[in-house]
Amino acid sequence: MNETSSKGLVWFRRDLRSADHAALYHALRSCQQVFAVFVYEREILEPLPRTDRRVAFIHDALADLERQLSAWVNHHHAGQAPVHGVLIQRYGNSADEIPALAQALGVQWVFANHDDEPFALQRDRQVRGRLAERGIGLKTFKDHVIFERQEVLSAAGHPYTVFTPYKNAWLKKLTPADLAPYPTESLAAGLRTPPKDLATPPMALAQLGFDQAVHTSDKLGKGSQGGQSLLADFLPRLDRYDKTRDYPAVKGPSYLGIHLRFGTVSVRQVAALAWRRAQEQSPGAQVWLNELVWRDFYAQILANFPQVTQASFKPAYDKIEWEKGVLAKARFDAWCMGATGYPLVDAAMHQLNQTGYMHNRLRMVAASFLCKHLGLNWRWGEAYFAEKLNDFDLASNNGGWQWASSSGCDAQPFFRIFNPVLQSKKFDPDGKFLARYLPVLAQLPPALRHAPWMAPAELLGSVRLGQDYPLPIVDHQEARAQTLARYRCVQTTPAKGG
Ligand code: FAD
Repeated sequence: MNETSSKGLVWFRRDLRSADHAALYHALRSCQQVFAVFVYEREILEPLPRTDRRVAFIHDALADLERQLSAWVNHHHAGQAPVHGVLIQRYGNSADEIPALAQALGVQWVFANHDDEPFALQRDRQVRGRLAERGIGLKTFKDHVIFERQEVLSAAGHPYTVFTPYKNAWLKKLTPADLAPYPTESLAAGLRTPPKDLATPPMALAQLGFDQAVHTSDKLGKGSQGGQSLLADFLPRLDRYDKTRDYPAVKGPSYLGIHLRFGTVSVRQVAALAWRRAQEQSPGAQVWLNELVWRDFYAQILANFPQVTQASFKPAYDKIEWEKGVLAKARFDAWCMGATGYPLVDAAMHQLNQTGYMHNRLRMVAASFLCKHLGLNWRWGEAYFAEKLNDFDLASNNGGWQWASSSGCDAQPFFRIFNPVLQSKKFDPDGKFLARYLPVLAQLPPALRHAPWMAPAELLGSVRLGQDYPLPIVDHQEARAQTLARYRCVQTTPAKGG
């Protein structure tokens, strides 16, 4: 097939931007006419709560993407009547929508970026097959991470399962070319508006069955423009990231998670910034780059070991007997609602429930608390985070939970159990974060907010423990002992003899 005279369709998924976009670049480079589409996937959307913030985020991001693409077309066809509606939008099942649209547009190729989540791989296989039946090809590209799949392997040719050697190999492999942006804008003359009968006016949230009143907060940053503003806001803080990142009351991290998740910001752009500054010996940039490498690490774990979505990375950990029944359910509800009586855990859960964000330090503490204090199966917590986190990403969320529960590839040892009171004293020393999310505790002197049940009655003021704020639902020392006993089954029996 002669690609230079062909038509192509770019299928946007978790890459909702026009700049530095691998699939868009390859389509524009190899096809004379290029169309663009996004499909609101019915199977993903139907089970979500009608107030889901991520759907509102995607909705805003698509409006932004549509503006960018239409602006490019208008720029390249100046003098002609301005157009809009370059981005085709559909609601349904991609396996039906993409082949039908590709055929109706008369394209020879569909271009998309890799998505290695099991659902997406299965969907893409189906789409590829149905396109092939129509004589249309599907070309896919790496875009979402710096190194993917089997790009970083050990000397023996295996995927890494321990972070530090992975990171060292990642850094050794990295060259400026891996971070170079795809110059899409310079090729934008090939972009086309669809024929009228295939164009779609942008869909309102209500048309998709979602609550129209849910708006993406400005703090989250709307679309790629919003992502760029967040990045600009973060860059002056980057050099101090190593010092500020662990304190939830401080504006330390970038808050770019949702933008990296949905591709409204390019990972190459942020990694290039971090790498350059890291080479200039900025400790903040070195630590931040490290976090971006963790993101690649978990993405390649999911790609190479997809069973992690169903089972513990270390099979022995599937033998653990978690709490069951009414008590377990009550404990889980208390955790979800932020009513465990441990202020740092509760404040973390309120942050998640109210904003869809949870600080990384608190994700570690809250996750550890669920499995190592409440004795609950980490999958319950994983599912709750998946429902609530704005930046929910299957690979990183599963990786984070398997880390916290000790079942993961490079996990916290099972006998290391965060003490939620000590974590609170260390990482929120002035009790500011606690007061923000648990206003009832703001009445207490800061030093007493970490463990109010230890406070002398006369210093509690009007706070009635057990009524205004819960008493701890488990005792730390007892929970610790129970957990060590629960995890005993994973210990390997020492070899006999010798
Ligand atoms: P920054 O601190 O500014 O970091 C920049 C980016 O690096 C993040 O946006 C993220 O893309 C990446 N990153 C940072 N830390 C990690 C990490 N430990 N693992 C993988 N990537 C990282 N991250 C998600 O993106 N989605 C999730 O669903 C998710 N679930 C988690 C669940 C648990 C139990 C734990 C312990 C961690 C989880 N993380 C997840 C990792 C981390 O907490 C978030 O990426 C980070 O808090 C997002 O905030 P930020 O954008 O301000 O990050």
